Amino acid sequence: MKKIFNYLNPFAHLGEKDYSFTLPLFTSLLISLLSELYALQIAKDPMSVGGYIIFINFATVIYFAFRSGIRGGLISTFIIILYYFYIIYDRNYTGQLFTSGIVTTLVLGSIYAAIALIIGYLKQNIDNLIEREADGKRRLEAIVDQMPVGVVITDSEGNILQTNKQFITILGRDAIKGTKIGQDTVDSITDFYHKKIPASQWPLAQALATGKSMTKKEYTLAKDNDNNTYLQVSASVIRNKVGKTIAAVSVVSDITQLKEIDKRKDEFINMASHELKTPLTSLRLYIDSLLKNRGSDQVKTLKSIKLQTEKLQQLIADLLDVSRIQTGKMIFSMDKFDINDLIKETIKDMQKTTTKHNIKFKNKGSLMVKADRLRINQVLTNLITNAIKFAPLGGNINILTKKTSGKITIAVQDQGIGITKDQLQKIFERLYQVSDAQEKTYPGLGMGLYISKEIIKRHNGKIWVESKIGKGSTFYFTLPLKN
Ligand code: ADP
Repeated sequence: MKKIFNYLNPFAHLGEKDYSFTLPLFTSLLISLLSELYALQIAKDPMSVGGYIIFINFATVIYFAFRSGIRGGLISTFIIILYYFYIIYDRNYTGQLFTSGIVTTLVLGSIYAAIALIIGYLKQNIDNLIEREADGKRRLEAIVDQMPVGVVITDSEGNILQTNKQFITILGRDAIKGTKIGQDTVDSITDFYHKKIPASQWPLAQALATGKSMTKKEYTLAKDNDNNTYLQVSASVIRNKVGKTIAAVSVVSDITQLKEIDKRKDEFINMASHELKTPLTSLRLYIDSLLKNRGSDQVKTLKSIKLQTEKLQQLIADLLDVSRIQTGKMIFSMDKFDINDLIKETIKDMQKTTTKHNIKFKNKGSLMVKADRLRINQVLTNLITNAIKFAPLGGNINILTKKTSGKITIAVQDQGIGITKDQLQKIFERLYQVSDAQEKTYPGLGMGLYISKEIIKRHNGKIWVESKIGKGSTFYFTLPLKN
């Protein structure tokens, strides 16, 4: 029943452009048939019902022009005129009656047609307007939805009209449509002193209250798992031509990563200063002692000076590499060489730096690769240095190579402190160091793995790590094999 009512209700079809002709055709025929039945069967005098029928026909034409456009109105008009001609024929009008019948039919037909044209035209124009409006709205919604920042749009009262996908991703929840900004009881947004910001002071609420734009305010969003999300929020009201506020919009960006990089840079500058200062201080002390005790123990002191200078050199070389990676200026010179030879050479050098660790490698003949020998040596040195550094109690360090289809996998396995699951990916990031209280005791700037990853990536290889806290870590990297 409801369906039929909806189908017939002309207002329910505005904007739909449903200009079908079956409905006006058959319904107009039915109305004419019923009119005829009424005139012949029910009304006592068939001639006296003309007024009613004309009234009904006016209504029919108006209805169909509004329901089905110009075409609907004209079809209805056509059926009605046919019916009028049928009446003239059926009632055997002659003479004066016949002439006035024809004239009346033509006059009424013209009026019906004019009504059908005017109302049908209006209806079709309304349809076009509604469609254009709906298309514009849909387009805007789609654009807002695809934006890389979170967006909330409210009406002039602050009732939420729309949010986008990114907003839900950033905030971890959707704002309920229809709720009013400023009355939201969830006050999870805090400022940098972790003071809760009441919803009434959120930028959107403030923009609406003051009419002023709020630009790039920074907040922290305390999530359940302690990991803070840093937000940058801007809000402003939208006014119409006469300056009346019609809506308000707020843009929310997640700046957590930027904040983290900022923090890491600060830490890096701090640590780099320390790392550079330590060997320099030692150097000064050695030089002082050389100057004081000229002659005695010179070789030992000079060896220490050499070691500290090498440390400084290494640090500066790493800094240069990081900057080369950043600027895309790391250059490789590819050569064919035996990776097993290189591993043995590197182990020989590295074993000299430790007495607590035993670096083992089972030689498996020769394995030719095409790569930058110096750079691969750098990766191996970095991995073995870390294996030594992060296994302070000593133990075995095993180097393994495995040949699989088209590539070779090299593994450096230690029995050290291990790495937690959530740090496994991060340690390859630029300037990343695991920084819990215990780890602080290990020197380093978090450059080595970042550089190694870039080197391996540029060789079309992969680098990754498997680790168990307290048991040790195994770093793997692959290189394409060259026969
Ligand atoms: P760093 O100069 O700090 O050693 P790296 O980029 O070489 O820089 O390493 C980044 C971080 O990864 C280290 O600070 C350390 O926390 C972790 N790490 C690297 N290698 C190991 C390992 N073999 N065992 C445990 N942790 C490691």
